[in-house]
Amino acid sequence: MNTLSERAKVYFGSIQHGRDALFASLGAKLNKLIELLDFSTIERGDKVAVKMHLGYYDGCQTVPVFFVRRIVQAVKKAGAYPFITDNPTSAYNAVDRGYTSETCGCPIIPVTGVKDKYTHPVTIGYRGVDTLEMGGVLHDADALIDLAHAKGHANCGYAGAIKNLAIGGYSAQSRWNKIHGVEDSIPWWKPDKCTPEHAQRLVEACPYSALKYDAAKHQLSIEWFRCHNSNCLECYKVDKKVRCLDIKPEAFAAFQELMVLTAKQVLSRFNEKKRFFLNVALQITPDCDCLGIIQPCVVPDVGILASHDIIAIEQATLDLIQSAGLIERSIPPYFKHVNLNPAAKLHPFTRLWGQMKNPYLITEFGEKHGLGTRKYELIEVLSPEETAKVTPPEHEFERQPTFY
Ligand code: SF4
Repeated sequence: MNTLSERAKVYFGSIQHGRDALFASLGAKLNKLIELLDFSTIERGDKVAVKMHLGYYDGCQTVPVFFVRRIVQAVKKAGAYPFITDNPTSAYNAVDRGYTSETCGCPIIPVTGVKDKYTHPVTIGYRGVDTLEMGGVLHDADALIDLAHAKGHANCGYAGAIKNLAIGGYSAQSRWNKIHGVEDSIPWWKPDKCTPEHAQRLVEACPYSALKYDAAKHQLSIEWFRCHNSNCLECYKVDKKVRCLDIKPEAFAAFQELMVLTAKQVLSRFNEKKRFFLNVALQITPDCDCLGIIQPCVVPDVGILASHDIIAIEQATLDLIQSAGLIERSIPPYFKHVNLNPAAKLHPFTRLWGQMKNPYLITEFGEKHGLGTRKYELIEVLSPEETAKVTPPEHEFERQPTFY
């Protein structure tokens, strides 16, 4: 484990390769990443939770089963008992997206049991969120492999290793009502300044249907994930004279800070030497896997990252996504206010989701709460430059069926 003054090691296998050969491709790089992560601290007989997102409905752009199986095999080689875990619904219908105990090589166990009730209470104490129900299965495990898909996210710009535990490690009630609900803890609307007619005008002004008005209760509500904040601000044009709206960056930030605190609770269950983080930055979609749909990829494939430091891996993943850049032609048409100004040095996810959903906040809060360090040393394995110099062995291609 690193002290904050040290740089954490983040190992990286790029999708780009120097040769069209097995030894240079991402599969070989994953083998190297697993070797460098070093599963020798996993003890014989340990129950190892491989926490991942198994998708939802048609949302199949998750971590390819090919990589999952390889990691599972490595854990088994260490003499331990791996199992895949995610929320009960995603686990139950994971077969629809190709994940089974046969394909993954180990059982798939719902993180909170089949009825979402096998949980362990944890105390949080943040902006009215007192306790949360952590998945009992995670609580019981001896070691943790946080195998995350890196992509965009409608609430916070980015989702990777932290969100995989922070949201994915808890019951539905905790996840949806309490963790997502924290954004409402920051006042953003002054009801006494707003008439029902004005509220209705605000609702009609929002191009993303983020605002809803309940006339009976004189209650204006906002769906934070729909709000494109600084990229949009159409409601503010209508509100110029009344000034009853005050959408603040703090509302979005609260969600990110709470995620850090909930992830911290999960991590605290495990010995530091038995925590392993992998971010798979392939099929980088604008929004989360839990949307349950197939989305266009808005950032070129980056590769796979591995580290023992959850903050360092998130920081490195965000930096690599920033370098890869936004694929403008792939932006879905319902993103109506994307900031494509080249003079603005913005992260691709900030261009999409607005500056109040700053993806780097998760690492700032993570460092503040002692989860790791944003300072990292990126160690690329089997880089294109390195493998380009290697002469491929002959007979690498299948000349005839090998199973005869
Ligand atoms: S900023 Fe835009 S998206 Fe957000 S509530 Fe206002 S109009 Fe809707």
